[in-house]
Amino acid sequence: MIDGVGTRTSTAVTATATFRFYAELNDFLAPERRGREFTCPCARAATTKHMIEALGVPHTEVEFVLVNGESVGFERALGDGDRVAVYPKCEMLDVTPLLRIRDRALRETRFIADAHLGGLAHLLRMTGFDTLYDNHFGDDEIERLAASQGRIVLTRDRDLLKRSAITHGCYVRALRSELQLREVFDRLDLARSAQPFTRCLSCNTPLRAIDKMRIAARLPPGVRQRYERFAVCDGCQRVFWEGTHWQRMRRLVDSLIMVGPSTHGTDGAGSHAVGR
Ligand SMILES: [Zn+2]
Repeated sequence: MIDGVGTRTSTAVTATATFRFYAELNDFLAPERRGREFTCPCARAATTKHMIEALGVPHTEVEFVLVNGESVGFERALGDGDRVAVYPKCEMLDVTPLLRIRDRALRETRFIADAHLGGLAHLLRMTGFDTLYDNHFGDDEIERLAASQGRIVLTRDRDLLKRSAITHGCYVRALRSELQLREVFDRLDLARSAQPFTRCLSCNTPLRAIDKMRIAARLPPGVRQRYERFAVCDGCQRVFWEGTHWQRMRRLVDSLIMVGPSTHGTDGAGSHAVGR
């Protein structure tokens, strides 16, 4: 299945290129291709994107590609003898001078999570990120919403990320939702733009602070006694307060964001984070 060396004749119905994938992109490859150079026949006029995905790596996981040492885009056609190096997102600290493969960043960080990532979707909402999630979304729907609303697709399904209309995506490796949140925060550098407790966990609508008097009748007596600050969701009408669930989430958020006392690290400031 893997050629030894490219010994093609020049008539070239196919070309043979050499590939090397770096860091965690190797997870997507067949075992014998991981962590090493290998050659592979390419169909005539195959592009870098074709070949990278044919080898099992979703294009959304790729930050940049070098062909013969030169930074190229996904549309570069591969020729006989080309040497292709493919790098993941997390390697980008080392390579800032090189051309990045996508010419536009998404202006606002918004997500759509696929059906298996409901826990992650809730946690992202908790940290303030606009995250669509519905476990009835099919792949076509996810692709359409991602493209039309400029959302980053979160999934554990690599085939979904290969869809052509999906330009920004993130293959989630971790299995537990709190670890998934950490993974996505690290990879997309989200800590600076998080706005914890500003969005409804249930329906994704931004929350609004509300005077206790206006909702007092709706509160269980114990809650009415113990808490002073409340927020309401205009989407689903739920009321939120800083109960034990909130406190547990606060600890998780603090561990992700690690803000200093001058912003909202203290209890006092944290408490107004419900609503705005
Ligand atoms: Zn809501």
